[in-house]
Amino acid sequence: FDDRDGWIWMDGDFVPWREAKTHVLTHALHYGSSVFEGERMYGGEIFKLTEHSERLARSAELLDFSLPYSVAEIDAACKETCARMGMEDAYIRPVAYLGPEQVSVSALNNKVHVAIAVWDWPSYFDPEVKKKGIRLEWAKWRRPDPATAPTTAKAAGLYMICTMSKNAAERRGFSDAMMLDWRGYVAEATGANVFFVQDGVIHTPDVTHILNGITRQTVIDIARAKGIEVVVRHIRPEELATFSECFLTGSAAEVTPVQSIGEYTFTPGDISLSLMDDYGKLVRRQS
Ligand code: PMP
Repeated sequence: FDDRDGWIWMDGDFVPWREAKTHVLTHALHYGSSVFEGERMYGGEIFKLTEHSERLARSAELLDFSLPYSVAEIDAACKETCARMGMEDAYIRPVAYLGPEQVSVSALNNKVHVAIAVWDWPSYFDPEVKKKGIRLEWAKWRRPDPATAPTTAKAAGLYMICTMSKNAAERRGFSDAMMLDWRGYVAEATGANVFFVQDGVIHTPDVTHILNGITRQTVIDIARAKGIEVVVRHIRPEELATFSECFLTGSAAEVTPVQSIGEYTFTPGDISLSLMDDYGKLVRRQS
């Protein structure tokens, strides 16, 4: 991924893609002091740009560091990076992390660095598989207790168990893994929120202690505007037997129907497919 043409925004300057490097003693690499975002540009407009930049700033504050740029400056830098790359449809990855100024658990003297890269990422899941619904297995790992970690931050350190869960799932031929929370309630996939349908009503897990996806909030708004009831509540894994449809939401995943989670099967139906369509139109400003 590091060997390609292009430009990456690093601490206020554009650096050639291959030269956008950091030292091996970077604090973030040793201690996980890093937060990031993932957002998409559709036809030259970054969808919910400011919401993403605000979440980046909030995630940093939750990890006890502050961004050296305002939300408006991060917004502008994201747009400039897309423009510099000549892209109208792109995935945008801002990352903020502590540098190599000091290698110790204490990080009071480390500088906060910000970088923004953009690339072409047409579909997070295989488009053919997506239509039929993707297959998930249960993850071995659970989302941590909010007394253990700042669980609402989009922090790199919180992704290690996601990577292990996703790797295990892909090795066994699944597209993703469904994670429970520390109490055993259904939480989220490794990079997306989850929704279920039962008798025309949508049910989705409470996100007080996990990432409240920007796509999740958008899809809830779309569904309610269409007159579909959305219930936010704790969902036990065995309840999955009572749901007919299931889908994931995320900036990268967009709206992705699910065919199975472990032993439970679903059929992508009217609600999942129409929301997939509505979301696609909204982000491209076609509705
Ligand atoms: N949960 C996790 C663990 C994620 O990584 C993501 C993707 N950022 C989401 C949920 C969905 O968030 P969003 O809709 O804001 O992209």
